[in-house]
Amino acid sequence: MTRILVTNDDGIHSDGLIVLARALERLGEVTVVAPAHEMSAASHSLTLTRPLRVDRIDSRHFSVDGTPTDCVTIAIGHLMKDRRPDIVLSGINRGPNLGDDTTYSGTVAGALEGTIHGLPGIAVSLVTRSNFDYTHAAEFAATLVEKVLADGLPKGTLLSVNVPVGPVRGVRITRQGVKTAKPSVIVGVDPRQRHYYWIGEDYSTPIHDDGTDYAAVADGLVSVTPLRNDLTDYRALDELRGKGWIPSHEARTGGAR
Ligand code: MN
Repeated sequence: MTRILVTNDDGIHSDGLIVLARALERLGEVTVVAPAHEMSAASHSLTLTRPLRVDRIDSRHFSVDGTPTDCVTIAIGHLMKDRRPDIVLSGINRGPNLGDDTTYSGTVAGALEGTIHGLPGIAVSLVTRSNFDYTHAAEFAATLVEKVLADGLPKGTLLSVNVPVGPVRGVRITRQGVKTAKPSVIVGVDPRQRHYYWIGEDYSTPIHDDGTDYAAVADGLVSVTPLRNDLTDYRALDELRGKGWIPSHEARTGGAR
């Protein structure tokens, strides 16, 4: 029996998670371990400074008062210890996770945490700001899960999937794009007359370069970006090694420590 772990960053009561879990039920046994409250932009954070509480809703639904990464860690390390999942799904996020926003995403982190434990991961996000109809995205996710379970993914790879709202018109395998960042910080005064600073709407401009996730969704297509936890910039690695301008203790001593 295929076992599917589902988490998200919008919280266990979010529609995107409920619709996704329901769509996956035909593929196997679905266990939901999700944050008790919204954890959007939690990135890959792990809670170490306080204990976590798990609320068992029923034998297949658990909420954790932590991040998506906490949820996957507790699921694999405890709740599903004796019946490890075969795949980790995260989502469906209420809004896109594209380009430079990828590393802020708690949705992506949930699937990423799975890959660290050797499991294939898929993060699913709905590309919309207003019409939150998750049905087509959930159907697409279920089809993709079937494909990944049958064919596998390279070890350590997760797929970040961004689905435009409405029926799926096509799919493109993409790379992570880049945006022109424009921070928006709202300054206000609290009831004690102290200033507060609230990070506001993202007014950044996505750059629609060919092959990017941004370009795919702008063309109305599902974007599927393979990601992995190794953030090494391999182009810079060769360049920096070639230049030899960073003082290297290893170079002088022949590698002895
Ligand atoms: Mn979210």
